[in-house]
Amino acid sequence: MQQFDVIVVGKGNAALCAALAATDQGARVAMLEAAPVDESGGNSRFAGGVMRFAYDGVEDLQKVTDIPADEVTGVDWESNTTDEFYDDLYRVTNFRTDPDLSEALITQSLAAMVWLRSQGARFAPNYRHQSALVSGKRKFFGRMPLWASGGGPGLVQSLTDTAVKKGVEIFYETRAVSLIYDDERVLGIKAKRNGKPVEFRSQSVVLACGGFEANPEWRTRYLGPGWELAKVRGTRFNMGDGLRMALDIGACPYGNWSGRHAVSWERHAPEFGDLNIPESSYRHSFPLSIMINAEGKRFVDEGIEFYNYTYAKYGAEVLKQTEQFAYQVFDAKTKPLLRPEYNDKQVTKVVANTLEELAAKLEGVHAEAFLKTVREYNASIRKDVPFNHAVKDGRCTVGIEPPKSNWANVLDSPPFEAYHVTCGITFTFGGLRINHETGQVLDVNMHPIPGLYAAGEMVGGIFYFNYAAGTGLVSGTVFGRIAGNGAGAAALTPNC
Ligand SMILES: Cc1cc2nc3c(=O)[nH]c(=O)nc-3n(C[C@H](O)[C@H](O)[C@H](O)COP(=O)(O)OP(=O)(O)OC[C@H]3O[C@@H](n4cnc5c(N)ncnc54)[C@H](O)[C@@H]3O)c2cc1C
Repeated sequence: MQQFDVIVVGKGNAALCAALAATDQGARVAMLEAAPVDESGGNSRFAGGVMRFAYDGVEDLQKVTDIPADEVTGVDWESNTTDEFYDDLYRVTNFRTDPDLSEALITQSLAAMVWLRSQGARFAPNYRHQSALVSGKRKFFGRMPLWASGGGPGLVQSLTDTAVKKGVEIFYETRAVSLIYDDERVLGIKAKRNGKPVEFRSQSVVLACGGFEANPEWRTRYLGPGWELAKVRGTRFNMGDGLRMALDIGACPYGNWSGRHAVSWERHAPEFGDLNIPESSYRHSFPLSIMINAEGKRFVDEGIEFYNYTYAKYGAEVLKQTEQFAYQVFDAKTKPLLRPEYNDKQVTKVVANTLEELAAKLEGVHAEAFLKTVREYNASIRKDVPFNHAVKDGRCTVGIEPPKSNWANVLDSPPFEAYHVTCGITFTFGGLRINHETGQVLDVNMHPIPGLYAAGEMVGGIFYFNYAAGTGLVSGTVFGRIAGNGAGAAALTPNC
């Protein structure tokens, strides 16, 4: 049995932020990580590293990273004011996001980024994925101009280095199994280490061990039939353990338990994410495509928004299609605008010089219906509206269902390319109810459970139905910090 002030379960971004915040309070902190070192870091380590936080202009971005003087003035940095952030989060969640949690997330997001920097994380402008040249000037779109240097792996590594330097003890291959609870307060964790039971005692426990996205049985149970067939984009270790442990002692479930973040993903991707080729299976350029199913039909408005606001809900639409697949179809005009991973060698694609040849090569697709769909789509486009992929250009279709609202381009320039996709799940939205000021987990009577805190994907009530790209890591930081501060302060306060 080992004794600490605070035990943090997990070693992703939210857990690391909680551990660092608790350590800065003066607490002696242990982290329990189910994964071995080389697979540690959770979904945070698979993340691209884009960060959505509130900023009024480039002056706020300069609090988070150094930007050369010529870029400060020469680039259109856009803004993501708190109002804009509220508008986006409320719109994509159909106004269901919890007001207190979303207020904490949005109003503390810039401070959280500055704090991450103070903890050793480094950020840089995301010119590669979030900007384009418009009339000779570089312009950002999607309201998240910064990303973590080195992506998710870089973020996790820098926070881990700082945690180790500050004396946090990290126990790898140590899977938390249950909470030690005396019917009044949480006293620690029972875990399994190399197959053997071990006990860790503490004043406070922070659960930051992810959702249930890697658990096919829970996915089927909560998300619905068919979800066991989704590919997992990230870690294989997030099995819902933390949620189960907390619910077992009476914690209150909260949020969109049938909801999830899921995207279009390489059809033949491995069962779980692969840290060696983390971005290879991304297919986020679909707004420039038409997506067609086995019946040769379109089934979503590919261009209703920038991908940042639709990609997380369209994975579910792909999963609903016959045999859970679709093709994203492009021609030579849009090919140069696709994200770089479309050129990776792991990609499943079909190339042809005519649409007829392409139709014949699309495995499992009704060829005649596909050609009819393309003919009708080509004929429906407002060709008088100029194409511009850096803004919502309004170049739309007229008279077809579903419509395409922006970036509609006639498919007429060979070679034609079709990318085979299925559904990849990122994380689940259902979680625990917490106090937004302390991170403390509430029980089913809405009373705080003494000694128990939660952060990251485990917090329910923030995301419903959909998601705005870049919010997961920032949410993990904001609520990780809150939980770490709460857990650290409580652990160091006698009789608390
Ligand atoms: C491919 C991909 C790309 C993404 N890109 C972005 C992006 O660019 N920007 C963004 O904001 N978000 C992104 N996300 C989402 C983001 O990664 C998550 O929202 C965020 O990382 C969640 O952090 P977390 O700390 O809550 O969970 P995780 O990082 O998943 O950490 C959970 C931890 O708990 C551990 N664990 C699980 N069970 C146990 C147990 N029983 N005992 C001990 N340890 C346990 C796991 O091993 C892991 O260390 C992406 C996700 C994926 C998969």
